[in-house]
Amino acid sequence: MVCINCPMSCHLKVTLEDGQVKAVSGNTCPRGETYAIKELTNPTRMLTSTVNIKGAIHNGLPVITSGDIPKDKIFDVMKEITAAEVCAPVKINDVIIKDVCGLGVDIIASRSMEKVND
Ligand code: SF4
Repeated sequence: MVCINCPMSCHLKVTLEDGQVKAVSGNTCPRGETYAIKELTNPTRMLTSTVNIKGAIHNGLPVITSGDIPKDKIFDVMKEITAAEVCAPVKINDVIIKDVCGLGVDIIASRSMEKVND
């Protein structure tokens, strides 16, 4: 696998024994080993997207998860994000969806958007 933690993109080789990680090689720094183990046992991702917004200069408000979510929950989270709609004004870091899918992570605004006059 390729480590995605920095632009070096180290090619990692993971040796398994009885389904357990026995060794990781090819990593230039310790983050590569941590990444490989996590990716094989509990893969997670930060998720960025947009939420529909009314009354603002744009139709889409950029949002991001407040923390990592399990990779296999990305589709469920995207369904909630797609169904959501907010009204301007919105401030950066406002919570748009609290505890999305019960994962203990919020969807938050990654920029502010003022209300525009009709
Ligand atoms: S192993 Fe370290 S140096 Fe290599 S890509 Fe990952 S974070 Fe970057």
